[in-house]
Amino acid sequence: DNFDHRKLSNRILFGMGLGLVFGVLINLTVADQAWAQSFLIDGLLGVVGEIFVRFLSMLVVPLVFVSLITGVSALSDPKKLGRVGGKAVALYMLTTGIAISLALAAAVIVKPGVGASPEQTVEREISVQPSFGEVLTDMVPRNPVEAMANGDMLPIIVFAVLIGLSIALAGKPGERVGQFFADFNVVVMRLVGFVMLLAPYGVFALIASLGATTGLSTFFGVLKYVLLVLFILVLHATVTYSLLLRTLTGLSPRIFFSKMRAVLAFAFSTASSGATIPVTLKTVEHRLGADNKVASFTVPLGATINMDGTAIMQGIAAGFIAQYFAVDLSVTQYLMIVVMVIIASVGAAGVPGVGLILLAGVLAQVGLPAEGIALILGVDRLLDMTRTAVNVTGDAMVTVVVADSEGELDRSLFNEKDGR
Ligand code: ASP
Repeated sequence: DNFDHRKLSNRILFGMGLGLVFGVLINLTVADQAWAQSFLIDGLLGVVGEIFVRFLSMLVVPLVFVSLITGVSALSDPKKLGRVGGKAVALYMLTTGIAISLALAAAVIVKPGVGASPEQTVEREISVQPSFGEVLTDMVPRNPVEAMANGDMLPIIVFAVLIGLSIALAGKPGERVGQFFADFNVVVMRLVGFVMLLAPYGVFALIASLGATTGLSTFFGVLKYVLLVLFILVLHATVTYSLLLRTLTGLSPRIFFSKMRAVLAFAFSTASSGATIPVTLKTVEHRLGADNKVASFTVPLGATINMDGTAIMQGIAAGFIAQYFAVDLSVTQYLMIVVMVIIASVGAAGVPGVGLILLAGVLAQVGLPAEGIALILGVDRLLDMTRTAVNVTGDAMVTVVVADSEGELDRSLFNEKDGR
């Protein structure tokens, strides 16, 4: 790594800020003219943003596959894998549980849905979430190439773990194949570094086109909802994560967050924890000091099963919709929301907007009107971006904690100054 991380993070943040200014300027001046729409917004900004997201997505499957095989095959002791998995899943569930509880408490206290008046209501096709049994069977790939082609993270993880274990147990041939994957991993990480250099332009384009096309008025009817979700997201990220990190590892949350800046910017502008995996993985390994043996497993796993930000949105949204339709929720219904939201966040893929779709399943389970989703559809993109940033922060935090507990965290690298 010979580029300056601090400089890059700052350039990415600068790109976001400039994109916002540029986008709002377009919005206020020429956005309703056909040429601006086709050349500027769809053309220039749309193309640059899309190419950037594609470069990231392109790396996800190869990186997860290669890196996880490398990590698992390097584990001296297969029991360790079970321990790492157990701790990670437990922490992911715990943080999601805290997130949804915070969200429901906030919704009950603040009552964002009482007196809300959304401007527009939109019909939306609602798909139902998979059952628990389906989530389980879908974890085992019928065909690994198919799983990779579809970018289905859990079956890819299962396959890579099994290959990695077999490499570790296969003697000399295993060593040779393992060496190949270890080298390949270095090469793919290198490529992640190149793609990150494009980030300032990519996030500029993504944020600018968002700013150019979002009308402010959409926010007013449900302003209380939007502000409450944002507040709880920030609260969870800063307070819950800092407390957990400090008590479980003694490490500094401030250093953690300052090194996470680039990851946050990626997650925010792409609204996809899946597409952010390469950057998350690179950051937790090369800057926060988590060893590949742990991180290659916990990061992609977290991107799929750990969605604290999404849980927060869903909890507040459920409360909001209940209040809007004047439905009184019982204690049992609240508990059901907690369980459903945790299951939904496990089953969801880290792609843009999926949290809102899964909310339909949660609402259906507790008997709330699914049309309620139309109320918050218009403002979801901004919340999607913000909750995705929280989702990946949780993945990185848990990765650091688990790595530290396994003696696989390079604490001096964690504490090292930025931008070497
Ligand atoms: N976009 C989120 C993510 O990728 C998921 C969601 O829609 O809440 O983490």
